[in-house]
Amino acid sequence: MTDLYIDGTWVSPSDGAPDRVVLNPADGSELARVSEASGTDVEVAVAAARRAFDAGPWRATTARERGELLRRVADLLVRDRAELGRIESLDTGKTLNEGGIDIDDVTAVFRYYAGIADGHAGRVVDTGDAGVMSRVVYEPVGVCALIAPWNYPLLQMSWKVAPALAAGNTMVIKPSEVTPMSTIAFVRLLAEAGVPAGVVNLVLGDGPNVGAAMVSHPGVDMVSFTGGLATGQRIMAAAATGVKKIALELGGKNPNIVFADADFDTAVDYALAAAFVHSGQVCSAGARLIVEDAIHDEFVAELARRAKAIRLGNGLDPDAECGPLVSEAHRAKVEGYIAGAIDEGARLVAGGKRPDEAALRDGFFLRPTIFADCTRDMTIVREEVFGPVVTVERFRTEAEAVELGNDTEYGLAGAVWTSDGSVAQRVAGALRHGTIWINDYHPYLPQAEWGGFGKSGIGRELGPTGLDEYREAKHIYHNINPAPMRWFGHGADEAGVN
Ligand code: NAD
Repeated sequence: MTDLYIDGTWVSPSDGAPDRVVLNPADGSELARVSEASGTDVEVAVAAARRAFDAGPWRATTARERGELLRRVADLLVRDRAELGRIESLDTGKTLNEGGIDIDDVTAVFRYYAGIADGHAGRVVDTGDAGVMSRVVYEPVGVCALIAPWNYPLLQMSWKVAPALAAGNTMVIKPSEVTPMSTIAFVRLLAEAGVPAGVVNLVLGDGPNVGAAMVSHPGVDMVSFTGGLATGQRIMAAAATGVKKIALELGGKNPNIVFADADFDTAVDYALAAAFVHSGQVCSAGARLIVEDAIHDEFVAELARRAKAIRLGNGLDPDAECGPLVSEAHRAKVEGYIAGAIDEGARLVAGGKRPDEAALRDGFFLRPTIFADCTRDMTIVREEVFGPVVTVERFRTEAEAVELGNDTEYGLAGAVWTSDGSVAQRVAGALRHGTIWINDYHPYLPQAEWGGFGKSGIGRELGPTGLDEYREAKHIYHNINPAPMRWFGHGADEAGVN
């Protein structure tokens, strides 16, 4: 099979490694088989990216030309939206609706970076000296290793590929081994749009072998990674040896704070979406509800009532509201957290088990789960579960709400619900998370930076900062009228030394 794209050609792996079977999480059936890279393939891919960066015509492209290339990619994404959305749904288990929205978001990211690719060439610095011209310019970093997770395979990859291309880098990219299919289709689109050979190289494979080989390769200048905290720590350590630039988008444990004066029905509705979109397999999932005492019991009761009515199903089924988890192993991990929460004294008020329907038996489904009477010291409240599980804590004062919301090692996102604009602004200002929603949950914009405080990561994706991650700043200082300074050794003339 020819699933690796290296130096502009689809190739087979060099060492005949066994194919990986990609499963459909909705029924456990075989979706596809793909061939994975060996260490040698990573070598060849990095060498191709290196050549394309150091000596290829790509280096001579203008920012405007690269912007036009990104625009062509966006147009092809629009053309293939239905097919790509379907692939994403089949591979990850998310609903067809969610898959289509992902592709719209990928398209928006390409259009955004197309628009700003040539918008910021650098700046002139006032030196205070008419004889000196000084300017700061931006250059691409070089060869980038871009590694993505399985929950939003193409979306997370696009947040890296679009700005990396706009800035003029070359790259080796690797999707998660669990969900490679949309990235394979995407690379075909990049080639069709005219991305030159060697500029984007695709390798498939797992983290410990293929991903680690990318990160430690001396020919790689920068690593951008989205995934779990433990993997991010490993990548940071490995990148340290080569003093590579890194960008890390890691996990989250995101507080969703509801004050008693919030619109009750809207807050409940959004709390469900915050926690259960894509079965909670979202880095910014509102998995930690923090509700004011006065409405707590009523809120939990309504939340449970609605959660019990959520329709699970195959993502292709138009009636399905929630798909399965991505794999058997991941569901087992989430079930472990549920069992642990019960042991620690959390009160299960919805879900906590697999669905009863026979039609869902072979898929990796889990009922949307709600735990009440949770406290901040419980494992289920502290660790990222990454599944359809929401915990509820209660608070009495604004200060307590903020204190609870900040009591996490992560700092990715959070929300505050209130009809009092002053409270909203104070709480939003006090929360130490990279994104805060007020009376909303989950929307993000390509124009606005995304990323985390604390252990949620390093750097930002999206927005102008998301482009800067892929650029080096260079200061060019031009002495327009050079003349001898006579600092050193001019005594030789006076003393007649020869
Ligand atoms: P993961 O860390 O297991 O894997 C992510 C990617 O890293 C995969 O491609 C994997 O093959 C690769 N990888 C694994 N070990 C590696 C190593 N030693 N060296 C190099 N690459 C390696 O994460 P996952 O389970 O695929 O994704 C879920 C995690 O991603 C969650 O923690 C979630 O919060 C996080 N995430 C964060 C964001 C964000 O924007 N902050 C977005 C999406 C997902």
